[in-house]
Amino acid sequence: MSLAAYDVAIVGAGIVGAACADEFARRGMRIAVVDRDQIASGATSAGMGHIVTMDDSEAQFALTRYSQQLWQKLRDELPIDVEYEQCGTIWVAADAEEMEEVRRKHDYYGERAVPTEVLDAQALRRLEPNLRAELVGGLLVPQDLVINPPCAARFLMERAQKHGAKLHLDRSAAQAGQGKVRMTDGFEIMANIVVNAAGAYAGELTPGVEIKKRKGHLVITDRYPGFLQHQLVELGYLKSAHSISSDSVAFNVQPRRTGQILIGSSRQYGAEHREVDSEILSRMLRRAHEYMPGLAQMSTLRARTGFRAATPDKLPLIGPWPGDESLFLATGHEGLGITTALATARILVDQITGTKPEIPIEPYLPSRAAKEPAHAE
Ligand SMILES: Cc1cc2nc3c(=O)[nH]c(=O)nc-3n(C[C@H](O)[C@H](O)[C@H](O)COP(=O)(O)OP(=O)(O)OC[C@H]3O[C@@H](n4cnc5c(N)ncnc54)[C@H](O)[C@@H]3O)c2cc1C
Repeated sequence: MSLAAYDVAIVGAGIVGAACADEFARRGMRIAVVDRDQIASGATSAGMGHIVTMDDSEAQFALTRYSQQLWQKLRDELPIDVEYEQCGTIWVAADAEEMEEVRRKHDYYGERAVPTEVLDAQALRRLEPNLRAELVGGLLVPQDLVINPPCAARFLMERAQKHGAKLHLDRSAAQAGQGKVRMTDGFEIMANIVVNAAGAYAGELTPGVEIKKRKGHLVITDRYPGFLQHQLVELGYLKSAHSISSDSVAFNVQPRRTGQILIGSSRQYGAEHREVDSEILSRMLRRAHEYMPGLAQMSTLRARTGFRAATPDKLPLIGPWPGDESLFLATGHEGLGITTALATARILVDQITGTKPEIPIEPYLPSRAAKEPAHAE
């Protein structure tokens, strides 16, 4: 059965699908969005909401910075529950080697007009007195910010709906491509363009897309206003995020407007179930307590898990999928999908509408990852 014809059908109502729906709908296109669950029920509900400029590669820098600027421009339109706070990031250095990394990052950002400040041990302690005393310094990145990801996704989706987007929740897609999305119950949505924004599950809909699930845990504390001012991330986080095989944890904490603290984070491959893994959770909390001993006294309310969508080269897949001219991907954002959702949507829609993108898009094109052209079923 085919009931409606759309310009674009999007599978996935996470932050990436919502941002795409919003961008397409505001440009006057007829949009349908399908999700087998609810808005923001996947990784988006587990994400910390740190909108961070990153520098692992030029391509990663360009996408994160561009997207951060799009979030900044959106600030005045965001509802209060999105809890937009420009709290800044402090990358925390535990030893002289990590202090070298602080200086390298400072130079890198400075050359690209991102303001940063090198902190010595005293300055770090002044800004975050609850960190353990022996830390040697850090890098303050004042323009980094935090948001509440599920609320942001809901805002984007509701805005898309105001521009006519149709939302099909609790509907599972069995096939996406060849100009249609076919649901598991046989219902079909016909569309000129189909966007696979199914996050860590994108590979199930588009065979040949190499996405691995990378499980993460997050703990939410009770309210402790004033305990923490900035998003704090240990510089060892970079080693943890880069590790491609082993399970890893890193100190990464975020202040919420409510006074609650989000404690992260962990990375695991090969863990397919959503349940909390008490062993990795304890490791993660031990790491956090090492950096901020006061956290150990706090009551925690709950732990959440989610699956990041990891690509082999650590860059997302944004653009056409070879072999099916109706099919586009918007996935593979690993630990940066909240940050980069707005830029993803912008450059995807630019590609489709023939608008010149504001940053070079080649590093994100899915053709780099296509093992073999996709075939229609
Ligand atoms: C612990 C943790 C902390 C994180 N912290 C941050 C952070 O601070 N900053 C940051 O930028 N990023 C962070 N991330 C990463 C971020 O959460 C993800 O990159 C982002 O949420 C991906 O969004 P998405 O829309 O692509 O995927 P998802 O939110 O997973 O959405 C995909 C949607 O597709 C739907 N779906 C899948 N298959 C089908 C199907 N067959 N039919 C219909 N629907 C389907 C799912 O139900 C889901 O709703 C974190 C991730 C984790 C796990």
